[in-house]
Amino acid sequence: MKGLTKQRVMVTGGAGFLGSHLCDRLIQQGHDVLCVDNFYTGTKDNILHLTDEPRFELMRHDVTFPLYVEVDRIFNLACPASPIHYQYDPVQTTKTSVHGAINMLGLAKRLRARILQASTSEVYGDPTVHPQREDYWGHVNPTGFRACYDEGKRCAETLFFDYRRQHNLSIKVARIFNTYGPRMHPQDGRVVSNFIMQALRNKDITVYGDGMQTRAFCYADDLVEGLLRLMDTGDVFTGPVNLGNPAELPVIDLAKRVIDLTGSASQLVHQPLPEDDPMQRCPDISLAQRALDWEPRVDLDAGLRNTIRYFDQLLSANDPRVLAAVA
Ligand code: NAD
Ligand code: UDP
Repeated sequence: MKGLTKQRVMVTGGAGFLGSHLCDRLIQQGHDVLCVDNFYTGTKDNILHLTDEPRFELMRHDVTFPLYVEVDRIFNLACPASPIHYQYDPVQTTKTSVHGAINMLGLAKRLRARILQASTSEVYGDPTVHPQREDYWGHVNPTGFRACYDEGKRCAETLFFDYRRQHNLSIKVARIFNTYGPRMHPQDGRVVSNFIMQALRNKDITVYGDGMQTRAFCYADDLVEGLLRLMDTGDVFTGPVNLGNPAELPVIDLAKRVIDLTGSASQLVHQPLPEDDPMQRCPDISLAQRALDWEPRVDLDAGLRNTIRYFDQLLSANDPRVLAAVA
């Protein structure tokens, strides 16, 4: 990268799916990277290839507790992202978003560091506006099973903007829509990992409800590029800005794409739709296009092929992460 100033960059949740790809890119760009993670859903395997790198440092830490380090920039990604994982211990999920934001914002305030929050399309809940633009305030059930995640992330956004107003902190807020790719946990229950793992083993593909609910899937590399661009915008631009791929499709069509691409003998089976499952989700990315000159480049088939190859390798290697899934 031309004209780059080397920085000390902290990535919370850096051993997770997206965090590990972000660490890769930051190391490639020449930065010092401090990866902070409590390994709740992330794994050392995701960052094993970086551990011999002198500019990479790994710290086991739970962001719900204060942290005293010296860095220039903070990407705050720590939080379980899959519904199964974030609903497993909902109180901890809310704490991770809310106490985690308070702790990381406090750190940023002391250091006068710039801080980026990985927010989510879930702040829009089950949206009544389509596609979702950043000025839509959302339709969230505050007491349902998804609330620990949705409301935790909404409160984190509030904290980010109050630290900006009250303490003039340099903040960035990205609203990430469904993102997939290699290093997703094979058992995290998200739709892309579930469908691919099921297809590769010729097991039934579990479509929840009639499968007509829609999502729009962004490949990890595209998403990480968006986060990096957002972090590098001038002080005035804060977001929130949607980052996602606007190519929307029904979940049942995703299942059929995965069957085609894997050549699987799997059959589709329908299971009950989880409570509060959003029926339609698709980002309006015009703000990201204007402010970040960003849009996704990897189409669904190419991204799925890479992801299928990754899960296939885990299966062939009898990786411990897939063993329980195979049982
Ligand atoms: P992930 O579960 O793979 O990664 C989350 C990481 O955070 C894991 O490494 C986990 O161990 C760590 N973590 C969780 N709680 C922690 C705590 N209290 N202290 C320290 N570390 C903790 O999920 P991901 O898909 O990589 O998501 C990364 C971020 O992006 C999350 O904040 C998520 O909410 C957000 N996001 C992701 C998506 C997506 O589709 N992948 C969509 C919207 C938002
Ligand atoms: N889904 C599905 N089968 C699965 C897993 C998920 O049909 O095995 C559906 C789920 O009900 C939702 C969509 O796929 O409508 C996306 O689910 P995911 O958990 O990946 O993320 P969400 O967008 O709901 O947070």
